[in-house]
Amino acid sequence: MDAAEPTTAFPVARCATCERDALCHVDLDEGERQIIRCIECATIAEPLAVRWLTLAELEPIGYGLVLPEGGCGRPDCGGGRCGRSAPEDEA
Ligand SMILES: [Zn+2]
Repeated sequence: MDAAEPTTAFPVARCATCERDALCHVDLDEGERQIIRCIECATIAEPLAVRWLTLAELEPIGYGLVLPEGGCGRPDCGGGRCGRSAPEDEA
């Protein structure tokens, strides 16, 4: 293992509100400092509690490549058959 930074890692923290390991996103507070928020409920996670996981590591906790039931949420998505892999695909 070298010291290269992971290129694809997602912050995950135990969320007290969701009562589970929740996927988080990076945000900035009013002082422009980086904070980590739960993607489900926007609760700010303790920085020390955040783990950076790869996409493969997200799957056991319910994220990763699995689309929610009913498809991706787009009106034109027929139950996951629209072939989208990630929201970022749309430029
Ligand atoms: Zn939460």
